[in-house]
Amino acid sequence: MKQSTAERIEFLRREIDRHDRLYYVEARPVIGDRDYDLLYGELAELEKLHPEFHDPASPTQRVSGEPVAAFAQVVHDPPMQSLDKTHTKAELADFAAMVGRELPGEHPSFCVEPKVDGVSISLRYEKRRLVCAATRGNGSVGDDVTGNVRTVKSVPLVLDGSAPETLEVRGEIYMTREGFVRLNEREEDAGREPFANPRNAAAGSLKQLDPKEAAARPLDIVVYNSGGAGCDGFSSHGEMIAKFREWGFPVPPWSRRCGSPEEIFAAVDELEGLRHSFRFEIDGAVVKVDERRFHQLLGATAHGPRWARAYKYAPERAETVVEGITVQVGRTGVLTPVAELHPVELAGSVISRATLHNADQIARQDIRIGDSVWIVKAGDVIPAVESVIVEKRRGNERKFEMPAFCPVCGGPARRGEGEAAVRCVNPACPAQLQRRVEHFASRNALDIRSLGGTVIEELVSRRLISDPLDLFSVRTVDLYALEVSGHRFGKNALTVSRSLEKAKALPLHRWLFALGIANVGVSVAKDIADAHERMSDLADSPVLKEVLANDERKGRERRILAIKVEAAKATLAFFAGEYGRRFMARMAQLGIDPVSEKRPAAAAQGPLAGAGCVITGTLSRPRGEYAKMIELAGGVMQSAVSSRTRYLIAGANVGAAKTEKARKLGTEVIDEARLLELLG
Ligand code: AMP
Ligand code: ZN
Repeated sequence: MKQSTAERIEFLRREIDRHDRLYYVEARPVIGDRDYDLLYGELAELEKLHPEFHDPASPTQRVSGEPVAAFAQVVHDPPMQSLDKTHTKAELADFAAMVGRELPGEHPSFCVEPKVDGVSISLRYEKRRLVCAATRGNGSVGDDVTGNVRTVKSVPLVLDGSAPETLEVRGEIYMTREGFVRLNEREEDAGREPFANPRNAAAGSLKQLDPKEAAARPLDIVVYNSGGAGCDGFSSHGEMIAKFREWGFPVPPWSRRCGSPEEIFAAVDELEGLRHSFRFEIDGAVVKVDERRFHQLLGATAHGPRWARAYKYAPERAETVVEGITVQVGRTGVLTPVAELHPVELAGSVISRATLHNADQIARQDIRIGDSVWIVKAGDVIPAVESVIVEKRRGNERKFEMPAFCPVCGGPARRGEGEAAVRCVNPACPAQLQRRVEHFASRNALDIRSLGGTVIEELVSRRLISDPLDLFSVRTVDLYALEVSGHRFGKNALTVSRSLEKAKALPLHRWLFALGIANVGVSVAKDIADAHERMSDLADSPVLKEVLANDERKGRERRILAIKVEAAKATLAFFAGEYGRRFMARMAQLGIDPVSEKRPAAAAQGPLAGAGCVITGTLSRPRGEYAKMIELAGGVMQSAVSSRTRYLIAGANVGAAKTEKARKLGTEVIDEARLLELLG
């Protein structure tokens, strides 16, 4: 029997939820992007044709919320509490002793978990659907940030059928370390103030009034506490967490069950050793009594539960001296002051420089040349000055002033309207050119091997290049003859020219990233490339224009809404501008027009153009081999038969039920011989 539309929609929603969970929560996707997009596209289309089946919990609706003027208030019952903190093992031992005293004759055990440094959140589900997500606020009343939290892909919108109908859980929204670094690069390229750490970045993202803005931020969640409803009936915390996991929530990736204070000490020490290995930053451990009946007995104070304690790790910081402040010129001309530090070791590496971001930042922190400072690693990676040790001032420290001219080309430096950054506005600035070429040749861009900073410096100062594309016209003999720090460049020239040759065939997203357009980082470039066929389509792209027009394009939300308005604007401006037009003209001369790796299926050529194919059963050659042949012939591999499948290739041992079902969906069932025929 053919599925009804309602059944099909329901099937697709659950299937997409399942794949989202495999991808975002369990990090083990079982289908490729293309298959996912087919499912998603089919669902979006059906929903458009049948608005009567609209459902805010549909995976297509993650970014459907409208901007709000202000957040509604949500009352927390029970209140969202903080945690009492300990800083020493002695204090932890006191905690265990207190628990022992309060529970005479009992043998409580403890769970040790990472203390995730993010923003606490409460999630409420009714009929197993997410209905409300709220921040802690003052503990009793928080902000309703449901629209923003829905955009976090690892937050289940619909729970597994084994979950209670009504459920409230609590956890932490965080920004991954990697996401934080990327976000800050983007902020700085765009001349905005970067975030001090992942926690601030996560908090700022949740407070966006427009869910589309929040959707563009790399947020994630971990759930570790009961919020009341639906969480009774577990005998232990550990058991509850295991259930949360089953119901579809990400839970702490590490925990230890301990019976004695010694075991707790060992666990918090072990965790401290792992502190930099998580995707999130942690600022300590949380020790919780495992048995939930003891939670009742122990109760809570006004501040936090008496059955749990935070154990804070000492912040990792180091003291050093700011020996000077220099100014760096970035790819987009942004002048960045950098602290030149007396080298010092911190969390496993030697640090001698730290970006100070901009003049405002220096003024705010009142950092002077000669100051003793504490340095930390923001997001565990980027060295930053935490604070000045004012007591160590001797009076001979000097204030820093941002130069009015570019330190490299001497051109005027201007502060853009509404920007924290000052930029060198000379388009021919050699420092900018140097950075642009470095970026152009970098690993995620065109990956030109052997072309390091000093080589580029030589090329720029000898005027062999005045634009990144000039690399393609530099003669190999000229490269060969270059002197780089006293050495003949020689055979390295061949590596460079081989890389350049390879670069010509690289896919669109690599080229787009290589252009160094503000707001277009690796992943944005990928998103934009996915929605286009070739570079020459970008200048007049209807997709980008639509992003600007703020159209929702729900059908491809997962890919296209990731394109921020600013990125779309900058990309269009790049190709419409004089430089962009000249760039494309030269690309045409060079015969390069990079193609998207993921062209829309309809554009595929070949005997199977656009035909969805599923392989089942045993074939005489490996499936992967056939899959490759099918894709080369323009076919689209799918993992399961759907109404969009044209051919089911049935090998040996395929049950009649399966082929029958396929036929009912309008799929042609063919054998291996017929496939070979079709492939020609
Ligand atoms: P603080 O914000 O420093 O007062 O610490 C208390 C907060 O730690 C709680 O409100 C939670 O948001 C957060 N937290 C992070 N990880 C955990 C965890 N594993 N268990 C309980 N709370 C946690
Ligand atoms: Zn300059």
